[in-house]
Amino acid sequence: MVDGGLLDYQATLDCVHCGLCLPHCPTYQETGRESSSPRGRIYLMRGVAEQRIPLDELVVEEMSFCLACRACESACPAGVRYGHLVEGMRAEIDARGARGRVRRFAERFALRRVVASPRVLHAFAGALRAYQRSGLQRAVQATRLLSLVPPLARMERMLPKLPDAHRAPLVIPARGARRGRVAFFSGCVMPEVFGPANAATIDVLARNGFEVEVPAGQGCCGALHRHAGDPEAADRLHAANRAAFRLDGIDALILNSAGCGAAMRDAGDALARKVRDVTEFLAEAGLRETPSPLRLRVAYDDPCHLLHGQRVAAAPRALLRAIPELELFDLPGCRDCCGAAGIYSLTQPAMSARLLERKVQAIRETQAQVVATGNPGCLLQIGAGVRAARLPVEVLHPIELLARAYGHS
Ligand code: SF4
Ligand code: SF4
Repeated sequence: MVDGGLLDYQATLDCVHCGLCLPHCPTYQETGRESSSPRGRIYLMRGVAEQRIPLDELVVEEMSFCLACRACESACPAGVRYGHLVEGMRAEIDARGARGRVRRFAERFALRRVVASPRVLHAFAGALRAYQRSGLQRAVQATRLLSLVPPLARMERMLPKLPDAHRAPLVIPARGARRGRVAFFSGCVMPEVFGPANAATIDVLARNGFEVEVPAGQGCCGALHRHAGDPEAADRLHAANRAAFRLDGIDALILNSAGCGAAMRDAGDALARKVRDVTEFLAEAGLRETPSPLRLRVAYDDPCHLLHGQRVAAAPRALLRAIPELELFDLPGCRDCCGAAGIYSLTQPAMSARLLERKVQAIRETQAQVVATGNPGCLLQIGAGVRAARLPVEVLHPIELLARAYGHS
């Protein structure tokens, strides 16, 4: 008897076991274990649904060990929707109570009560800003007290210097003749941690003739919740965004966070059909304002959920190439996950650190001055990596470089 529960069992049958995805899977590359490969994980999912394999610790651990980076989807000739499968399997694991209760509670509390609540997230970010700016952070670091609680120490290391929160006006007029009207999804973490990237996105769109609407009432996209096996919270958050965005009269719903863009597109509804990554939208529309030269060596690194989740690879590179004198190259291993993967750096710190070390080594060898990548998780992870390695490298969203070339401050 087959009982997939929240796993889409039928979709597991699309896998023809060819193994072409294996060399592209970071956890397989690092371990060489079949059970840590896409094919092995699908075998486990199918076995559990067909009741041939118990839903035991091995299955739970392999689903958690997967980065949900979706590199296997890009490599798969059979069109297996692996991201959809692993999210379903994680939800089924939680529905059957097969994961540690404390860990599940802590994760759900953080994702539902903090990340999903703009008010709580803003208060939390405000407390972190005070911690950094008052000198308390330096004092705490000097005592090495945090090393007694490894997850806290890791979170502290990941934390960049927080700028002021970015609150955009509801409507930003186009500069010069109006070419169109877009809505901007500002995200949950982006306004608190990467406000300059949001400001740059709006400025670049306005300079290129687009009126930008930033609807109040929008909130977290629910990507982290869905990846963590909480489809209920993810659906609720998506429904709230559907209500917040008026789709009539807008050319596109613009996002600058690859993870949010992929999650929104996966919904497959009217909102999803309007989604465009900002680099994709501007590359398609064409730049009206010519950027000034920037003399920088810039390494581009593909966010997994832009490359594999949305199949956007050429657009960010094309925009960066439009900046005169900017020397653009692909970071070696640019298609490989940096180990951020939502909350993976907290749940699987060892593997996350191994993948980050590969990136840092590539950055060191190429002597890039800037690493450009369009996703908050990657910006945080690679930023923490270069800080720890004391490399003189800026880690920026591609749109920040374009805004800089426009003289945006
Ligand atoms: S999503 Fe990434 S880590 Fe998971 S099986 Fe696919 S390639 Fe491997
Ligand atoms: S490439 Fe696709 S069909 Fe082949 S083993 Fe991997 S998931 Fe299965």
